[in-house]
Amino acid sequence: MFLGKEYRPVRVVLLGPPGAGKGTQARTLAKRLGVVHVASGDLFREHQAKGTELGQNAKTFMAKGLLVPDAIVIAMVLERVARPDCAGGVVLDGFPRTLEQAKALDRALGEKGLDRVVLLKVSEEELVRRLGGRLICRVCQAPYHRETAPPRVEGRCDRDGGELYQREDDRPEAVRQRFRVYQQQTEPLLDYYRTQKKLREVDGAQEIETVSSKLVGALKP
Ligand code: ADP
Ligand code: AMP
Ligand code: ZN
Repeated sequence: MFLGKEYRPVRVVLLGPPGAGKGTQARTLAKRLGVVHVASGDLFREHQAKGTELGQNAKTFMAKGLLVPDAIVIAMVLERVARPDCAGGVVLDGFPRTLEQAKALDRALGEKGLDRVVLLKVSEEELVRRLGGRLICRVCQAPYHRETAPPRVEGRCDRDGGELYQREDDRPEAVRQRFRVYQQQTEPLLDYYRTQKKLREVDGAQEIETVSSKLVGALKP
C-alpha cells in the first residue's frame, strides 16, 4: 500500500539494537512512503564489495563489532542524504549511532530536522535468535532469516536471485560486542530524541507485517 502525500516529505530514523528489524522495516517503509532508504551498514558493505579505500578502512572495525569512527560515517552518510533523490524524504537505518552523529545530522538537516525517530524494541534473547539465523543478499543486501523469514528459493534472494550469505559480524563474539556497543554508545540517543519529542517506541517482537503497520501508526503527527 502506498501512503498518501500527507506523510511526505518525511525524514525518519529507525533506532534499535542489532537484529531489531531496522533493515527489514526500513525497506518496506521507504517503499510505502516513496522515499529513499539509507542504511549506513549497507553503504559500508557496498564499499567493501567494490574494494574502495573507505570500505577497507571500515572493515576492521565492522568485523570486530565496533563502530566505524564518527568522522568517516558522518561524511559518508551526509553526502548520501544531500543527494537530490533524498529531497523528497529518507528513511535512515543504522545511522545515527552516536550522539556526535545525531548532532551532525541535525545540523545538516537544518530547521525542520527529523520528523520522527522510532525505536524498535526486542528482547536480547530474541535478538540472538534473529542474528544467528540471518542471511543477507550479496546483490541488494535484503535480510532474510532461516526460520522466520526464509526466501522462496533456498539460498537465493526473492528480488534478484542474488546469493544469500551470513555476515561475518553475525558470529557470536561479534554479536556480543555489538550489543555492548549499542548499550554504551547508541542508547544515549534515546534521551536525546525524547527531549526533542520525536521518539516513538514500537514493539518489534511481533510478526513482520504487524510491526510494519505499528510503525506507520507511529509516524502520524
Ligand atoms: P537490523 O537491521 O535491525 O539489524 P534486520 O532487519 O536485518 O535487523 O533483522 C534481523 C533478522 O531478524 C533478519 O534475519 C530478519 O529476517 C529477521 N527479522 C526481522 N524482523 C523480524 C520479525 N518481526 N520477526 C522475526 N524475524 C524478524
Ligand atoms: P549494520 O549493518 O547497521 O548492522 O552495521 C554493520 C556495522 O557497520 C556496524 O557494526 C559498524 O561497524 C558499522 N556501522 C554501520 N553504521 C554505523 C554508524 N552509524 N556508526 C558507526 N559504525 C557504523
Ligand atoms: Zn537481493
